[in-house]
Amino acid sequence: MLQEQCLWNMTAPNIDAYSQMSSDTQAAVCIIGGGYTGLSAAIHLAEKGVKVVLLESQTIGSGGSGKSVGLVNAGTWARPDDLNISLGEVAGERLTQALGQAPSLVFDLIKRYDIDAQATQAGNLHMAHNAKGEIDVDIRYEQLRRRGANVEVLTGSKCHEYCGTTSINKALLDHRAGTINPLAYVRGLAKVATNLGVTIYEHSGVETLEKVDGHWYARTAKARVKSERVIIATNAYSEGEWTEIKKTFYLVYYYQIASEPLSGAAAERILPYKTGAWDTRLALSSFRRDNDNRLLLGTVGGTQMKPKSFYQAWANAVQKSYYPDLPVFNWQYEWCGSFGFTQDHIFRVMEPDEGLLTATAYNGRGITTGTLMGKCFAEYILTGNRDSIPIPFKTLEEAKIPFAGIKSGFTELGLTLYHAGQCLKIIR
Ligand SMILES: Cc1cc2nc3c(=O)[nH]c(=O)nc-3n(C[C@H](O)[C@H](O)[C@H](O)COP(=O)(O)OP(=O)(O)OC[C@H]3O[C@@H](n4cnc5c(N)ncnc54)[C@H](O)[C@@H]3O)c2cc1C
Repeated sequence: MLQEQCLWNMTAPNIDAYSQMSSDTQAAVCIIGGGYTGLSAAIHLAEKGVKVVLLESQTIGSGGSGKSVGLVNAGTWARPDDLNISLGEVAGERLTQALGQAPSLVFDLIKRYDIDAQATQAGNLHMAHNAKGEIDVDIRYEQLRRRGANVEVLTGSKCHEYCGTTSINKALLDHRAGTINPLAYVRGLAKVATNLGVTIYEHSGVETLEKVDGHWYARTAKARVKSERVIIATNAYSEGEWTEIKKTFYLVYYYQIASEPLSGAAAERILPYKTGAWDTRLALSSFRRDNDNRLLLGTVGGTQMKPKSFYQAWANAVQKSYYPDLPVFNWQYEWCGSFGFTQDHIFRVMEPDEGLLTATAYNGRGITTGTLMGKCFAEYILTGNRDSIPIPFKTLEEAKIPFAGIKSGFTELGLTLYHAGQCLKIIR
C-alpha cells in the first residue's frame, strides 16, 4: 500500500527534540535554518570555539535536507567548461575544483564524527538514455578528465552490469560520488553541532531580522538572538517576509517513490554495486537503493493538481523502459520537495549587509554544496578573507530573478507534459 510519507522519516535514526527559544540570548554568530548549510557552518565555527545559536522554524532537516535523493555529487549541473563561460575561467576552475573535492568533505565529516548516515561511496552513474545522451556523457568525461577528476566511461557489458539494464549502453561513473540517507546525515550533523556546544532551537522561526547599533537581532515569536554575524541558511524553504532571498531563485519540485525492499533477480540486477544513478533525460529519472534494498525512483516535478495515480503510472513506465522483464515493483512510499533553481544552474552567494551572509539555489546539488558553503562561511567569518568563498559574490539585486513564480509554473507545466509523454510512450 503506497503511503504519502518521506521514506527517510522511517529509516533515519531519531535524535532528541530541541526546545523552542523562550528567552533572549546572545551569540557571536546566529544561524537561521537547520539544513546542511546551517549545520555545516555551525560545526566548523564551533570547532574553532565560536559561540553559535541556530534557529530552525520547524525541526532539523525539515527543508530540502531531509527529503533529498541522497546523491552526494561532485560539481554543478553545468558542465565545467560552461561554468567557465558563465563565471570566467579563473572563477570557474576554482569552483569546479572546490566542488570536485566536496564529496570527500561530506564523507570525511561523516567518518570523523562517526555519523550514522548510511553512507556508501561507491560512485554515481550518469546514464545515457539515448544517442544524444551518449554525446553528453562523452563531453562531460573529456572535460572532467582534462581536470584530473576520477571518472570513467562505462560501455557495453560493463555498463549493463553496473546499471542492471541493457537499455543503457553508456554511462559516466564518477568514483568521487556516493549516496547517504539525507535525513540521517542532517540529524547527525545536528548532534555533532550540539556536542561541540552549539545551541539549537526548533520551532523557532525568525520573524524579523534587524541591525541596531552594529548588532544583529533575529526575533522569533517568543524571544530574540543578539549577534555580531548572521548566516541565513533557509534557502528554498525560507519562511516569512523578513528576507528577500526567495527572489534569487525559482522553485522546482522533485518527486520520489520507493519500492518495497527488492529481492530475487531485481535485487541482484539493479545497481548491484550500490551506486546512485540518474539519466540524461530532459526531465531526469534518478535511481538508487536505500540501506534496506528499496529502489528509489525520482524525477523533477511536483504533485499539485495531478491525479494521485499520475506518478505511479510514470514509475511503472520507467520500470517498463529500463527493467521490462522484472516483476512489477510494489511501491511503498512517495514524497515531494522543492529546491531553488537558476537558469545557469549556478548557486548564489551574497553578503547583503555587513555581517550578513547567505547562499541560495543549489539547483538540486545541495548535499555537497551546502556542506561546502557552511564550511566556507565559517572560514570567512574566522579569517575575514573573502577568498574563503569559492564563487564570486553577487549583490541581492544582481541575484534576483524576475518573474520567478511564472518561471516555476512554466517549468512545472513542461515537466508534466514530458512525464505524460513518457506514460503514453510518446517520449521514450
Ligand atoms: C526532493 C529533493 C531531492 C533532492 N535530491 C538531492 C540529491 O540527491 N543530492 C543533492 O545534493 N541535493 C539534492 N537536493 C537538494 C538539497 O536537498 C538542497 O539543496 C539542500 O537540502 C539545501 O540545504 P540547505 O541547508 O541550504 O537548506 P534546507 O535544507 O532547505 O534548510 C533550510 C531550513 O531553514 C528552515 N527555515 C525556513 N525559514 C525559516 C525561518 N524563518 N526561521 C528559521 N528557520 C527557517 C527550514 O525549515 C529548513 O529546515 C534535493 C532536494 C529535494 C527537495
